[in-house]
Amino acid sequence: MQILDGRLVAQKIRTELKRKINSFYEKNKIVPGLVVILVGDNPASQVYVRQKVKMAKQVGIHSKVLSLPKDVSFDKLKQTIQNLNTDPAIHALLVQLPLPSSLAWKEVIAHIDPRKDPDCLTAENQGLAWSGQARVLPCTPAGIMKLFEHYNITLKGKKAVVVGRSQIVGLPMAQLLLRANATVTVCHSYTKNLSQITKEADLVVAAAGRQGLLGKNDFKRDAIVVDVGIHRTVENNKKILKGDVLFEELKNGVSYATPVPGGVGPMTVTMLLENTFQLACLATESRTHA
Ligand code: NAD
Repeated sequence: MQILDGRLVAQKIRTELKRKINSFYEKNKIVPGLVVILVGDNPASQVYVRQKVKMAKQVGIHSKVLSLPKDVSFDKLKQTIQNLNTDPAIHALLVQLPLPSSLAWKEVIAHIDPRKDPDCLTAENQGLAWSGQARVLPCTPAGIMKLFEHYNITLKGKKAVVVGRSQIVGLPMAQLLLRANATVTVCHSYTKNLSQITKEADLVVAAAGRQGLLGKNDFKRDAIVVDVGIHRTVENNKKILKGDVLFEELKNGVSYATPVPGGVGPMTVTMLLENTFQLACLATESRTHA
């Protein structure tokens, strides 16, 4: 079994990105800017946000975190977003999800200027993506496509199964696979006989958010398995991360698999940086053409 090493591929992409950002700066004297809005004190979100800011700095993106209390009002959050929408130094604006339950994420996201939406979450960007005209592709599925590219995995004609149909992972993943000429089945919480469906697939992307949902017996022998799930858990008094797939069971049972951690996670963060740079390029182009 070959491990799809997200850390390695992400590092390679970031090295190239740093070079592109340097020459962009040389030419335009503009530093791409990213703001992450963090509402509340969800410990997992705090870790993700710290990682994003740290890696952004490494590639030459100016980044900052705006922390707001968990009881922030919708109006205050909306005002914060609108101020950032008009700040020319900010090219990408990410609202870290999940939001506290008092805030409806779709209503919040709707206030982000689609030209500054690095995870392709606004309705305008989702529409553009579905019609093949996306400004940038959603970070997690785009990162997974980069993994396939790095390992020369061809998707054309493959039977692909995506487990999960969220707007941030499952749906855009299915769409990208379809565009790459795979034959795609999307499973969700109402799907019957999930195992029967995944067992027939050449490629499975597990994004159900259910720890250990799939194991060796749910895949055919030469399947490609991508695990998007992230679950914080404790084993032998140690805090560890687990996925939706029982990775230790796979061993030589499948042809390729992503580990958790070190698979899809680093690719997601790296695509956020890549998308921030792409949005900075688009903003600069439209300013020069104005
Ligand atoms: P979500 O809760 O929004 O969506 C989960 C989807 O899985 C839903 O469509 C649901 O119908 C489906 N589902 C739930 N239980 C199922 C089951 N038993 N069988 C089949 N389908 C089932 O979650 P999300 O935001 O898409 O995230 C999914 C997982 O991926 C979570 O663990 C999340 O933490 C993780 N995640 C990881 C990254 C990364 O970079 N690695 C990025 C985003 C999300």
